[in-house]
Amino acid sequence: MAVPLFDPAAPLAPLDAELRAAVSGVLDAKQYILGPNVTAFEEEFAALHGVPHAVGVANGTEAITIALRALGVGPGDEVVVPSFTFYASAEAIPPTGATPVFCDIDPETYLVTADAVKAVLTPKTKAVVVVHLFGNVAPVDEIAALGVPVVEDAAQATGSKTTDGRLTGALGTIGTFSFYPSKNLGCFGDGGAITTSDDALAERVRSLRFHGSRDKVTYEEVGYNSRLDELQAAVLRVQLPHLHAWCDRRRQVGSWYVEAGLGEHVDLPVPAVGADPAWNLYVIGHDRADALHTALTDAGIGARSYYRQPVHEQVAMTPWRTDAPLSGTARAAARHLALPMGPALTRAQVDEVVAAVADARLD
Ligand SMILES: *Cc1c(COP(=O)(O)O)cnc(C)c1O
Repeated sequence: MAVPLFDPAAPLAPLDAELRAAVSGVLDAKQYILGPNVTAFEEEFAALHGVPHAVGVANGTEAITIALRALGVGPGDEVVVPSFTFYASAEAIPPTGATPVFCDIDPETYLVTADAVKAVLTPKTKAVVVVHLFGNVAPVDEIAALGVPVVEDAAQATGSKTTDGRLTGALGTIGTFSFYPSKNLGCFGDGGAITTSDDALAERVRSLRFHGSRDKVTYEEVGYNSRLDELQAAVLRVQLPHLHAWCDRRRQVGSWYVEAGLGEHVDLPVPAVGADPAWNLYVIGHDRADALHTALTDAGIGARSYYRQPVHEQVAMTPWRTDAPLSGTARAAARHLALPMGPALTRAQVDEVVAAVADARLD
């Protein structure tokens, strides 16, 4: 039986009637922009994270740009970002006028570390974009202790937390989320949010998402048209009460992979110290990752290498390319491969994936 890499529709099937009712409700209310569902979702998302403020925005990429702008990042500033991440983590920086400065990662956790950030800090560093890649939880406390504001890119880590129960997006100065359909909390299109405990930052984010205006008649700074829309907010409100259960299922699937002996064949993803990841992608390491990918595809098992070419080597990043060797990045880029993950995956499917990996006989 084929096992898909992910299947965002499967966990939503039991909520079908509720989702349709929520969409109908918006059509009936005929209020599509910054209406009651956006306000309610912002309150519910903030409460879930134990922070006073959540602000809905159009997507997870603009969430990062707006978070940086709210922090005062602009021309002449540097923003540190890992190179092993989805391209958008870095792409969001140049629109602020600042320079992206690429740092390395730990190839075991796929995460940026305090040492990696420290190695590239300069007096011009105005912020660090810390990515909770694949749902793992980066060491925000250690990085914040370096004395620079932390923007948490939690796009892949909605519902991930520390072992002492703090959710990603509530660990740093400001957190950014994506609700792209394949994320841990996905809507029916594009959507995003920004979380913070800082009242002034939240107010600036609210202004920036609406053209740099607080009252919608006077414009204080050049901003963005970047709002979460009412339909997406209504859909997200139906799903939000299920987020923790879905994330626990992602954790369970991760433990099944371990129990089923996947670690005998490949390098398993390693939770960072103090992390309780809700895996968005289950990413293993292998010296012959592409050969394994081919073998799994032949066996009907979904697999994918997301970041073979790290961000600092992408053509668009040429102006900011680093000469410093990023050895952890190079290793992860060459060896990573995502295996099936999601809240609807069964133990039988996990066993099937592990059997197919064993059958590939690449060890
Ligand atoms: C998905 C993602 C983003 C961008 O989110 P969009 O909503 O697609 O704009 C940013 N960073 C990371 C790490 C992502 O995975």
